[in-house]
Amino acid sequence: MPIPLDPEALGRRAEAMLLELAAISAETTRLVRLYLSPEYRRAADLVAGWMRETGLDVFEDALGNVRGRAGEGPRLFIGSHIETVVDAGRYDGTLGVVAAILAYDAFARASAKPGFGIELIAFGDEEASRFPTTLSTSAALAGHFEAKTLALKDAAGMTYAEALRAYGKNPDEIASVALQPQEAAAYVELHIEQGPVLEAEGEPLGIVTAMVGQTRLSIEVTGEAGHAGTVPMKLRRDALAGAAEMTLAAEKIGSEGLVATVGTIEAKPGAVNIIPGAARFTLDLRAASDQARKQAIAAFRRECEKIAARRKLGVSFALIHEIPTTPCDARLQDRLAAAIEAVGGRPLRLPSGAGHDGMSMAKLCPIAMMFVRCKGGVSHNPAEYASPHDMGLAVAALVRFIEAFRGR
Ligand SMILES: [Zn+2]
Repeated sequence: MPIPLDPEALGRRAEAMLLELAAISAETTRLVRLYLSPEYRRAADLVAGWMRETGLDVFEDALGNVRGRAGEGPRLFIGSHIETVVDAGRYDGTLGVVAAILAYDAFARASAKPGFGIELIAFGDEEASRFPTTLSTSAALAGHFEAKTLALKDAAGMTYAEALRAYGKNPDEIASVALQPQEAAAYVELHIEQGPVLEAEGEPLGIVTAMVGQTRLSIEVTGEAGHAGTVPMKLRRDALAGAAEMTLAAEKIGSEGLVATVGTIEAKPGAVNIIPGAARFTLDLRAASDQARKQAIAAFRRECEKIAARRKLGVSFALIHEIPTTPCDARLQDRLAAAIEAVGGRPLRLPSGAGHDGMSMAKLCPIAMMFVRCKGGVSHNPAEYASPHDMGLAVAALVRFIEAFRGR
């Protein structure tokens, strides 16, 4: 017998819990809850209390992740993060934690047991808002915590290791947080979409196909500086005009499932009356498959070289950042699709342009993600909003997913 569910009531409870979490901030006028801060402590305690109320065995690991366990055997991990960016919204990360608690609570209230190991988790460092690192707390679970992270400093000059100690943790115990692959059956995360696709499609819920890979390039264009009044147009080697044409070429390469952005551009020497002799710009290109991303980068470089040759400019490329695509598990995607259909939704599949803790967890076990529609696609902003109706459906779908889960 499926557990009886009232999505509207679940949505109202989710909203009330999110409001309670959002009230825990370092500042009175905006939401700021950085990893290992006093506010993080209060949020972790609140979440731990909620987990305990559902009957889970709750503990905190050496990184301050809050974890609640039940059942035997390889565990289904469900969670997200509870730290925030500066001036955050109320839903990013926290919705996934609250939804996991409400889903497990539905089992507890029905006196039903999932029949396998389950672990709810609230991660601490996903947003890179305090230290210049990201996903470090989930990386630790996957056994990929990098020792150099401990020496990273926050804005006040405190190191990651010092912050852990001040929080009552022992950095020497981080290695013990790593799980063995046989302990983890799967990792599932529910998160706001942070984009406008579900809203445009009129669907409350979606299934993530992959967290997209990224390539970032710095491109240097060299020409010849000259007098803005005396050099005729046809004799110019204007580096900025060349970079502008290359920017438009990047825009043309963007397509379905592939996004290309020129986010910075700089002209040298940078004066109103001098033809730019050099220009530098950046490209951020993301795609749902590594092959598509690599082909697009190669096409972009060829196009830039053609433009440079025609304009008698020099062009060079430096790779500044690259991460591969993290695919979501095909079988888990299908199970999420069935769960979404069970609550009356249409299982729309879409890639995630942002990174999430699942990228770390994928090194340990199969992962899947469910997206919840958010207003205007806005996130990392106090205007971030997901409706109680959509959140209630998401929790209900998560319950159906857990009910149907039978291990890997
Ligand atoms: Zn997030």
